[in-house]
Amino acid sequence: CGIVGCVLDKKAAPIIIDSIKKLEYRGYDSVGIATVTDSINVKKGSGKIKEVDDEIKLKDIDGNIGIAHVRWATHGNPTKENAHPHCDCKNKISIVHNGIIENYKELRQELLNEGHVFKSETDTEVIPHLIEKYMDEGLDLLKSVQKTVKRLIGSYALAVLSSDEPDRIIGARNESPLIVGVSDHGNYLASDVPAILNETKKVIYLEDKEIIVLKKDDVTIMDLDLNVLEKKITTITWDP
Ligand code: GLU
Repeated sequence: CGIVGCVLDKKAAPIIIDSIKKLEYRGYDSVGIATVTDSINVKKGSGKIKEVDDEIKLKDIDGNIGIAHVRWATHGNPTKENAHPHCDCKNKISIVHNGIIENYKELRQELLNEGHVFKSETDTEVIPHLIEKYMDEGLDLLKSVQKTVKRLIGSYALAVLSSDEPDRIIGARNESPLIVGVSDHGNYLASDVPAILNETKKVIYLEDKEIIVLKKDDVTIMDLDLNVLEKKITTITWDP
């Protein structure tokens, strides 16, 4: 399983799909991508990346900002509906997640009681709906993700897109790997360094309970209370 996200000065999908292929070694049963143009665009399916790509052309999706996922199913069968990215009710938020949300049953029941409609059997799908709930209460994307991750028990590496704030990806991690890549033509999030080495050798290693705001020209890394952290950029000298 693995995730990738990037905000670039050019079309993102070809680079995102090449990057996610480098995470194939982590094992997976489904693959999907989301980008933002005027709205959220999603393509996903179950099977090998090549099979899904031959069928639905994963790179054929516009937008300079996007996220992708290779799934190792833990909750719900490896079907198209359960493949990531997962969205909120209004299709304004799209997220990819690695890990397991241990308290998803309680969260799902709370959200169902509030009228949210679920499309998958995954533990993950509570996340876009919680973010939607907090954005509907008037919070911005970052604060909504902050409030959401504070309610999650379990492991996660997350990348979040919203058509309301189309210039950024919000990332977060707890007990699942996630790193940042920086470059002059855009910035990256990935589960592991090899995913982004074709694009940049400059990497920031993240710790648990950190939140990332990734924009084309800027990366900000914060703790869960949104205090900005000073992080070191490491230049990778090994080849993948
Ligand atoms: N628990 C999530 C699911 O089953 C994420 C699995 C993963 O890490 O790929 O969809």
